[in-house]
Amino acid sequence: MDLPVADPGTERGEGSLLQCPYCDSEAMHKLAQILLPGLAAVCVDGTTGDLFRNPSAVAVDLRKEMVDYITQRSETFISDALIESEANQDPENEMPEDPFEIVSIFMDDFSSTKRNIIGHVSGWLLSDSREDKIDDFVQEMEMTRFWPVERREAIAEVLLKNVDLKTKFHCPEKYENEERLAHHKEQCTFRPVICPNDGCRATVSVRCMQDHDAACPFKVLQCEQNCEKRLLRRDMDRHCVTVCPMRPMKCPFGCDSSFPERNLEEHCSDFLQPHLLKVLKVIHKKGLSADELKDRALLLEKADDNGKLVKARDTRSLTTVVKDLEAKMKHE
Ligand SMILES: [Zn+2]
Ligand SMILES: [Zn+2]
Ligand SMILES: [Zn+2]
Ligand SMILES: [Zn+2]
Repeated sequence: MDLPVADPGTERGEGSLLQCPYCDSEAMHKLAQILLPGLAAVCVDGTTGDLFRNPSAVAVDLRKEMVDYITQRSETFISDALIESEANQDPENEMPEDPFEIVSIFMDDFSSTKRNIIGHVSGWLLSDSREDKIDDFVQEMEMTRFWPVERREAIAEVLLKNVDLKTKFHCPEKYENEERLAHHKEQCTFRPVICPNDGCRATVSVRCMQDHDAACPFKVLQCEQNCEKRLLRRDMDRHCVTVCPMRPMKCPFGCDSSFPERNLEEHCSDFLQPHLLKVLKVIHKKGLSADELKDRALLLEKADDNGKLVKARDTRSLTTVVKDLEAKMKHE
């Protein structure tokens, strides 16, 4: 008979346990995203009004300084937060729990130590031109791959684990030996897997896969406008406004109706008479009465042996065909 065995993990000191290394991939990506604008802000604020230095001249040094600073702050964050909460029983004054908010505070603190004189002027911090400069510098750094996302993610992972007070965004599991840890890692819901969509190379935590899939640019989807095509999510918008046969179009002859582009031919044939009336009214100005115009339109359709009228796709070409036919009819 098997006796229940107490979990030996609880008996031992925390220090000797092996921690599962996995964290929430989406949170990590999000954190990696905010590092770039964070650095851009520091570089822009530090060089504004300086004729001799621009943001890119200081980026290498400031990146290192900033990473060191926010990493250090993150390392002491949990103990700082504990001291804070004991000293201060006011629930209104709690430390934030959101890792993005916390890291943003670290970056702001760092940034405020780097501002030059102009950077300290309060108007500057809220100005649009500051926002523009930061956006431009983010773009520049993205283009030059100055701080590639893989490198930012490695830092983001460390930060995330350090500041994630409630272990919402990283796995809290700890094991007393490699074997048990390895066994856990195989089924850990934070474990990273490669997105199965063809062409996508994102590594995503199992628990985040559904969210990722719902936004993955490489997911193959049925056309949103319901043509037969299946295409990648990232190509959908362009497809729908450029080549999709179901994209809505207005009648080129000025009917009120709009219809899927692929129905243009059908519309031109179904609405030939109203289209002819519009064209005839212009050609004959006030020369013919409404009834005469209607008769003329019917006659024209009958006289059109080659079906040229329904093939005209706009007012101009229809007018040409009508004029040719009328000329012919006069001679007969
Ligand atoms: Zn785990
Ligand atoms: Zn994907
Ligand atoms: Zn389509
Ligand atoms: Zn029409």
